[in-house]
Amino acid sequence: MLIAAALAAGAASASALAGTSDADIAALVAKENARVVAWRRDFHQHPELSNRELRTSGIVAEHLKRLGLEVTTGIAKTGVIAVLEGGKPGPTVALRADMDALPVAEKTDVPFRSTATATYQGETVGVMHACGHDAHTAILMGVAEILAGMRAELPGKVMFIFQPAEEGAPDGEEGGAPLMLKEGLFASTKPDALFGLHVFSTLPAGTIGYRPGAFMAGSDGLRIVVHGRQTHGARPWAGLDPIVVSAQIISALQTVVSRQVDLTENPAIVTIGTVRAGTRGNIIPEAVEMRGTIRTYDPAQRTDVLARVTRTATRIAEASGATAEVQFGATPNPVTRNDPALTLRAVPTLTRVAGEGHIREIGLQTPSEDFSYFAREVPSLFFFVGVAKPGVPANEVADNHSPLFYVDESALPVGVRALTQLTVDYLTGRMK
Ligand SMILES: [Zn+2]
Ligand SMILES: [Zn+2]
Repeated sequence: MLIAAALAAGAASASALAGTSDADIAALVAKENARVVAWRRDFHQHPELSNRELRTSGIVAEHLKRLGLEVTTGIAKTGVIAVLEGGKPGPTVALRADMDALPVAEKTDVPFRSTATATYQGETVGVMHACGHDAHTAILMGVAEILAGMRAELPGKVMFIFQPAEEGAPDGEEGGAPLMLKEGLFASTKPDALFGLHVFSTLPAGTIGYRPGAFMAGSDGLRIVVHGRQTHGARPWAGLDPIVVSAQIISALQTVVSRQVDLTENPAIVTIGTVRAGTRGNIIPEAVEMRGTIRTYDPAQRTDVLARVTRTATRIAEASGATAEVQFGATPNPVTRNDPALTLRAVPTLTRVAGEGHIREIGLQTPSEDFSYFAREVPSLFFFVGVAKPGVPANEVADNHSPLFYVDESALPVGVRALTQLTVDYLTGRMK
């Protein structure tokens, strides 16, 4: 009788804890919020660059172990994976957060602003969570805690993926989503569905933005080196001026998109972001190095744009007697493509979370995401949660990657609730 009473008491308290209704989840998210905010502020104040997320991943792993999950550390250098086994059989849902910060010196006035510095490509730089990955990591830690509390009620499994180096590994290193896959992320368990979110500067705080199919651009890094012949700045004919050739190349590259690509089919972008050459005003240098990025949304269009960029740069150089070497990055991000059927199934869940009027289908986004590598393997949905301060117009907010990037923390519980509710609805078959 004692045993029966204890069991009954246990069952009662478990079911009180383990409710999976919308109201239960909303209450659990509200209760968890203070911790999520504290984690996010702590990560914000202690940001770490790509492939260097040692402190962050240590805190994540500790938390997941404390929840009793099966935790693997050190995947793709600092990545952490945890698996939550539900109390009943069922499918597997994976959830992904990224943990890395950027070489940006913070200029916000939040009390927990970062003053961290690190060495990046040989230079000392400020480090800031200017893309909001601090929020993603804290949100997913909160989701893990809530789902772990209802594990007895959950049919199936949840895989938590805490990913390093989304912004790209430093030169000469591998990292991020492709390295996680290479190291066997989905080798033993292939999830049935994968969800991820990104905080986004130009949507109002708490508003969810989604798009079925192609969502975020594919990106290719671009490096062009124009080789000339160094000479006196007063005697250009005695050498071969790579600066003038580079100027022609930069202008001509803008015609690839504006004059050569059918913009009614897909947009594309060619940007040169750095131009490095020379030491003095009176020396024509030996070479110019330019770096840039290319964004496309379709594999055939991508191949075509890359070929046109190569042809434009090499032939313009050739016309002047110079040479141009054109290289594309070793790990291009594919287009982030949301599974259309999964997206349609998830919209009612996300609408319940955000509230009518606070969710919208949005246009193609030109940033890229290495979530796209996972989305090629598993039916996936990646969506945005707005973090703009209420009252600030979209054209005045500081973008992701800006030193003034700001996360309105009222968005955090929306993110926690969205990932929790998507997981519960998927596993319990509530997502039709
Ligand atoms: Zn970013
Ligand atoms: Zn990001």
